[in-house]
Amino acid sequence: MATNRDSIAMSDIECPCIRDICPFIIAERKVTRLQPRHAVALLAKEPATSPFTIKVANVVSSDPRYRRAGVAKIFVQQIASGQSTEDRPHWEFPILGILNVFSSIHSSGSKVQDAAILKDLYSSFSKILDPILRDFHLLTPSGQYGDNRRCAVARLLLFFLDDPMTKRKLYEEKILRLIVHCWLETSPESSMRIYATSLVVEVTSREDKTGGPPPDYLERIFNVVKKSSLVSRVNFVLKSKSMTEETLGQEIAALANLTMQAAGALLRSLKKDVHHSELRGLIDALAHCEDLIQNLIAKSPNGMNILVHLLVNTRLVDVASEGFKKASRGPPTEPGTYRVGCFYQFFENLYNSLVLVQNSDCPLEVASAYFDAARASIERMGATTLTP
Ligand SMILES: [Zn+2]
Repeated sequence: MATNRDSIAMSDIECPCIRDICPFIIAERKVTRLQPRHAVALLAKEPATSPFTIKVANVVSSDPRYRRAGVAKIFVQQIASGQSTEDRPHWEFPILGILNVFSSIHSSGSKVQDAAILKDLYSSFSKILDPILRDFHLLTPSGQYGDNRRCAVARLLLFFLDDPMTKRKLYEEKILRLIVHCWLETSPESSMRIYATSLVVEVTSREDKTGGPPPDYLERIFNVVKKSSLVSRVNFVLKSKSMTEETLGQEIAALANLTMQAAGALLRSLKKDVHHSELRGLIDALAHCEDLIQNLIAKSPNGMNILVHLLVNTRLVDVASEGFKKASRGPPTEPGTYRVGCFYQFFENLYNSLVLVQNSDCPLEVASAYFDAARASIERMGATTLTP
C-alpha cells in the first residue's frame, strides 16, 4: 500500500535528530557505504534492536539485492533468537524489514523470481509469530506506539494469507485472538488501522483455490473474544469522526461479515426444527439483522460496494428470504405498518436497484458487479426455495 504509511511506522521508533554522533545517523551512513551483500552479512552479527537493523530494514524495499542476498533469513533469525525487554519488543525492527521484503516483491511483480524467498518466509511462520505471541502484553499499550505495533503485525499477517498453508494457521485460536486484538485495540484515528481492519475482512471472507474460512471460524473467534467487548469497541470506533472513507468502508465490511455470518449460523440451526420457544428469538434476530444491514448500507460511504460484498460473501440473501417467509406465514400486519425483520424493504431496494441499473443511461460504476451478485443470489435462493 502507500509508502507514506510505511514511513509513519518507522519514523517514531527511530531517533529524529541529525547529529553526527547519533547512532542512527552513523548506522545509516554505514548502510549507504556497504554493498548490499556485505550489509546483510554484517546484519547477521547485529542485535535485532540496533540502529543498523532498522536502517537495513528501511532500504530493503528500494533495492532487490538485499532480499536476494538473504536478508529475510537474517530478520527471521533475529526474531527467533532475540529477547524483548519489559517494555520494548525486540522484533519491531526485523518485522518491518520482513514487511518491506514482502511488499517489494508484491510491488515489483517478482513473485516468480523471488519464489524461494517467499517460500522461506512462509515456512518461518511459527518462528516469527511465536515470539510475538509470547510478547502479547507489548501489543496492548494504547497510543501511537501501540497502534503502529499492532498494525505492523496485522499487515504481516495479511501477507501470510497469500499462502494456503500459512492461511490455515491464521484460524488457530491464538492467532485469531491476536488478529481481533490488533483490530479492536487500535485507535480509529490511526492511519495504519486500515491494515488491522482489512485483515479481519480478509480472514472472514477470503476465498481461494483451497476454499474459504473454515466452517467453525466464528465459534473460534467468539471463543477468544467476548461478544460484549467486541460490540462496545465497534460502537466506539464507528462514532469516530476522523476516520477516512476508505477505513470506514472496511470497518463496515468487517462488521457486516461478522454479523451476517453469525445470523447465517443462527438460521441454519433454527431451520432444522423451530420450536415455538425459539421462534421469538429468531424473529428478534431477523429484525436486528435487517436494521443493521439497512443502516450499514445507508451510512456507508460506498453502500453499493458493501451490498455487493455482502451478497457475494455472506448468507445475507438466505437470512433475508427466511425473514420474508416467516413474515408471510405470520399474522397480517395493520395496513400501512412495516414490521422490521420481514426484509420487505430490503427486497424492494434490491429490486429497485436492478431496475434502475437496467434503465439508467449513466450506469453506476459497480452496476455489473451488483447485477451479477444480485442475480446469482436470487437464482440460488430461487433454486433452493422451489426445489421440494
Ligand atoms: Zn539521534
